[in-house]
Amino acid sequence: MAFEGLADRLQSTIQKIKGKGKVSEADVKAMMREVRLALLEADVNFKVVKEFVKNVNERAVGQEVMKSLTPGQQVIKVVKEELTKLMGGEESKIAASNRPPTVVMMVGLQGAGKTTTTGKLANLLRKKYNRKPLLAAADIYRPAAIQQLETLGKQLSMPVFSLGDQVSPVEIARKAIEHAKEEHHDYVLIDTAGRLHVDETLMDELKKVKEVAQPDEILLVVDAMTGQDAVNVAESFNEQLGLTGVVLTKLDGDTRGGAALSIRSVTETPIKFVGMGEKLDALETFHPERMASRILGMGDVLTLIEKAQVSVDEDKARELEQKLRTQSFTFDDFLEQLGQVRQMGPLDEILGMLPGANKMKGLKNVQVDDKQIGHIEAIIRSMTKLEKEQPEVINASRKKRIARGSGRSVQEVNRLLKQFDEMKKMMKQMTNMSKGKKKGFKLP
Ligand code: GDP
Repeated sequence: MAFEGLADRLQSTIQKIKGKGKVSEADVKAMMREVRLALLEADVNFKVVKEFVKNVNERAVGQEVMKSLTPGQQVIKVVKEELTKLMGGEESKIAASNRPPTVVMMVGLQGAGKTTTTGKLANLLRKKYNRKPLLAAADIYRPAAIQQLETLGKQLSMPVFSLGDQVSPVEIARKAIEHAKEEHHDYVLIDTAGRLHVDETLMDELKKVKEVAQPDEILLVVDAMTGQDAVNVAESFNEQLGLTGVVLTKLDGDTRGGAALSIRSVTETPIKFVGMGEKLDALETFHPERMASRILGMGDVLTLIEKAQVSVDEDKARELEQKLRTQSFTFDDFLEQLGQVRQMGPLDEILGMLPGANKMKGLKNVQVDDKQIGHIEAIIRSMTKLEKEQPEVINASRKKRIARGSGRSVQEVNRLLKQFDEMKKMMKQMTNMSKGKKKGFKLP
């Protein structure tokens, strides 16, 4: 998981100071020494670290902390606020022109994830903001980039404007914008050409496209895994083109986090979105405060709730609540629940958003991968209707049949039956507890 080392170190450092009734200047200094090392180790730009430590120090030994009733917690609050500030403070929204179409130029080096992100962004604009984007294929140099965008368009059932690879990107951009106007698209996302390195030819071409397209937004796509290189790339693109935002991809990987924490300070350009996986729905709006909260182990309950809201159908949730209360929850309901959880994203990512989750050492070793859910689903699908509704009928021979049918072992079938049974018992207890209250417990 991204930020793991940094999160571990910062959390154990702040833990030491958290409960202190009195915090001396020496305590703060000692803490900040460790914070400094943790940030440097996470590959955060050294100038950024220096500035950050200075800011926290100034505030932490000042009045607001020392005189407070809970100085330990105040120090942590300061750290969180400064970390948030470092990443840009407020959420930075994508431009929306009042003379549509809003033109967005997607730029970046090859392999950063530019084409994929173009598709993801179109998907997000449609899903979250109800927009009607047009994708424009202007990367005429990378072999197959145009086909890649067209395939993404097909997957999303979204139109892709392309003139092949023999027409100049400037012309493609111009025509794409005209086409978008005619077809009443409110966004045009131009997938421009990438190169392996920042070079003059690339920049010259991008400048020409910029001149013609007059974009409302120039988004640089950079790979978070490349650490300080990502920061350097952002700096050069910003100098040459004047960026309006950055999309940091592959934050689902093992990145130490240096790029996420440095880009804003170094380039003065906000991170607007982060890529959290290869799938087309794996793009999130970047919220500096929530990210700071995640890094400091305070969880990111807000994102979790948003994800749940997108994937959980309210009527279904109510129906389920009823079933739980009357204890008529079956394996079919269980299967449906699994499907909903799956829609929220990879399980380890969801768990990472729970406060304190990465302090639960056991969790790190639990491989909650999608494969496992797939196995459970296979087992349930091999059950008959009767078995799903009344699992108590499942005897030894039925177990063998289910195991065979799902390609899993009898032990796994047993384990699932046991877990389901325990879950039902737990629900019974919870329902009993909430009896007498006006309303039963709420589903997450
Ligand atoms: P381009 O050359 O910049 O257009 O790069 P592509 O869009 O072809 O992406 C390069 C690779 O990175 C592809 O395999 C993508 O699936 C992958 N990729 C893009 N964004 C993400 C992300 O957020 N997470 C992960 N894990 N992979 C990503």
